[in-house]
Amino acid sequence: MSTCLASGGRPIDLSSVFALPVTLALDTITVRDHTITIHIHATAATTACPRCGTIGSRIHSRYQRTIADGPFAGRALVFKLRVRKWICPSPACPQRIFAERFPDLVQRYGRMTERANQILQSIGVTTNGADAAESFA
Ligand SMILES: [Zn+2]
Repeated sequence: MSTCLASGGRPIDLSSVFALPVTLALDTITVRDHTITIHIHATAATTACPRCGTIGSRIHSRYQRTIADGPFAGRALVFKLRVRKWICPSPACPQRIFAERFPDLVQRYGRMTERANQILQSIGVTTNGADAAESFA
């Protein structure tokens, strides 16, 4: 959990400011021009293999996903999510290696958060797709 201090010294949980699931931790925030970039990662020490359900605790490798969110304070908000690839401990499982998933934030191959998708869809209902895309540009 990342915090900063409000006037009066009360701590503010930045994860809650950006409405992040509690399973994700915030590393750094950078503001450049019109974009806020937030680096985040999952904190779980283990995760279940999506194929066989066996709990894995060995990490194979890491990579980074870039996920756009809806605008925040007039700027584009982008998450840089550090994803771990895990080794399935079951010798019988054909999966062997799997990437952790974040159903509360983004779909498996999504490039935009689920909440941003929902905003776009609700705009698309009343206007058209081009207007909806423009409102996020
Ligand atoms: Zn497995």
